[in-house]
Parts: sequence; structure tokens; C-alpha cells
Amino acid sequence: MMEHWTIPPELRRGEGSPWRFEDTTYNLAHVRVKKLRGKASEYSCVDCGGPAEDWSYQGGSPREQLEQQRGCLLAFSSDPFDYDPRCKLCHKTYDNRDR
Ligand SMILES: [Zn+2]
Repeated sequence: MMEHWTIPPELRRGEGSPWRFEDTTYNLAHVRVKKLRGKASEYSCVDCGGPAEDWSYQGGSPREQLEQQRGCLLAFSSDPFDYDPRCKLCHKTYDNRDR
């Protein structure tokens, strides 16, 4: 679907290598969201309309990946458009919705 964006050179893994969604980590995925969409703080929280602070993964993406971080298994997506801006409180609420 969105395979043909122009990706800033610093987000490419190696010189001249094609950018691949699947070739990423949790941290790199979040860096890409910021690079492509700006800081979450420039947006309004999608839940309460207040100032957003974080990019929050929507869940259920076909590009979802899991990564172990500090003993927790974190779900994230390699697609920057699978994230919504949220304030800290709504982000927490959203991430805990099914647990
Ligand atoms: Zn909120």
C-alpha cells in the first residue's frame, strides 16, 4: 500500500538499501513515526482532544511485531500510520484496555 514514500536517508539501514517495513525494531519504528508525522505533542489526543504526548500504537496491524523490552513483550507496528497521538493518561488507558 504505502511502499513508495521518500524515506529520509538517516532512516535507511544502509547506503542505497531499499527501506523495508519489516526490517525494524520498536525504537526505530517510533523514530520513524516522529520523522514522518512529527512529534506527538504537535497533535491533539485522539481520545480526549487534549494535548498529545506520545504516539500510541493502534493495535491489530498486519505489520505488527513483538519485541522484548525490559522483560515485557511489547507490540508495535513497523507502519508509521498505525499510530495515533495520545496524552499520557489516554495512552495508558488504551494500552490496558484488554487486560
Ligand atoms: Zn487524552
